[in-house]
Amino acid sequence: MIQKPKGTRDIIQTESYKWQHIENIVKNILKNYGYKEIRTPVFESTELFQRGVGDTTDVVQKEMYTFEDKGGRSITLRPEGTASVVRAYIENGMASMPSPVKLWYNMAMYRYENVQKGRLREFHQIGAEVFGSTSYQADVETIVMANDILSKLNIPNVELNINSIGCPKCRTEYQNALREFIRPNLDKYCDTCKSRFERNPMRILDCKEEKCKQLNHGAPVILDYLCEECREHFESVKGLLDTLGIKYNIDPEIVRGLDYYTKTVFEFISKNEGYTVLAGGRYDGLVKELDGQDTPALGFALGMERLIEIYEKYNTEVQNAKPQLFVAQIGEQANIYATKLVYKLRQNGIYVEKDITGKSINAQFKYANKIGAKYVITIGENELQTNTAELKNMETGETMQIELDVNEIIENILSDVIN
Ligand code: ATP
Ligand code: MG
Repeated sequence: MIQKPKGTRDIIQTESYKWQHIENIVKNILKNYGYKEIRTPVFESTELFQRGVGDTTDVVQKEMYTFEDKGGRSITLRPEGTASVVRAYIENGMASMPSPVKLWYNMAMYRYENVQKGRLREFHQIGAEVFGSTSYQADVETIVMANDILSKLNIPNVELNINSIGCPKCRTEYQNALREFIRPNLDKYCDTCKSRFERNPMRILDCKEEKCKQLNHGAPVILDYLCEECREHFESVKGLLDTLGIKYNIDPEIVRGLDYYTKTVFEFISKNEGYTVLAGGRYDGLVKELDGQDTPALGFALGMERLIEIYEKYNTEVQNAKPQLFVAQIGEQANIYATKLVYKLRQNGIYVEKDITGKSINAQFKYANKIGAKYVITIGENELQTNTAELKNMETGETMQIELDVNEIIENILSDVIN
């Protein structure tokens, strides 16, 4: 038997309704904050991620699905959404659209990861990106929106951690201090850390290896090195979050796994599960880095698989759709009549089922029960002659005789339904 590739998942019909439920809630919040959907290609030029995500990051160095296409181009399956959205922003001339430009996406991402709980090779992110504001107001609006999403989804015990990682100006000084701290122990770090020491020592702080984590204890923190502008920006972000009553911790250790971040970075951690479910930050240099006009921007991405895993623990009342009516029939004439009836009911927006496999009347009732049909109406020779039939409420067991008429049926099955 052929099996799905390692690190991928089927989202089957007993799962997908949960995805739809969550997606609908999230989409609605994004809409109310003025975000519009964007969809970008699954694959892009490899160079986009090398330059956009940063070629000293884990994502680019270890995790990309890269191949050569038949035309000899180097292609990569997108490992994250921001670089693609920025490319699309530039390529579609969005700089000339009313600013800020607010975009959201819901897309599959591909990373060659060590597969484990909460870590897949194909996974899904809902992300949001806003272009064109240097103001702390944009940072706060983005964080508040993320916070709204998680609280609307009733995810308990989520903690917001924020940090500022400064701008290229303050970072130069910080990176020097960091190198001085690391240098005496450099030979004890892993090879990846060693290779990043000169070009990007901040990546070393994000290393997942235990020995490197130990060595990083007591490292200088970027917050002590922020320039005036970055410090003020961070103070304003915190001040407005306080005003809005949004709780947060300052975590000077957040550096984020992608190179493009500047100033504010944040993560929402589910404390019960120990997962980061949503993460993001400002990336003021990225649009220019990818050859666009210098445009400030920020955003976040939410990991759908992790979110759903947590969501279903605390929200058990969401259910798959169930038929409002099942039309059972006995005999060929009744079957044809039922087919026409179901056709009309469906045209009227009713979720109705009938047998299409040739089941006996008993088996039809059993099936109607299994799929959770709210009502069953039974049609046989007799019913066709009298033009009346029995409508049974499967929840209460109550029955009633009703006229075999589309409007009459609809009226009766909808009468006591609140959903
Ligand atoms: P980590 O430090 O856990 O590797 P990251 O910095 O690589 O995270 P981002 O690229 O910021 O994560 O992705 C944002 C969110 O997407 C994460 O917080 C997580 O919820 C989800 N995510 C990231 N990688 C995976 C994966 N391999 N499988 C499932 N979800 C993931
Ligand atoms: Mg990662």
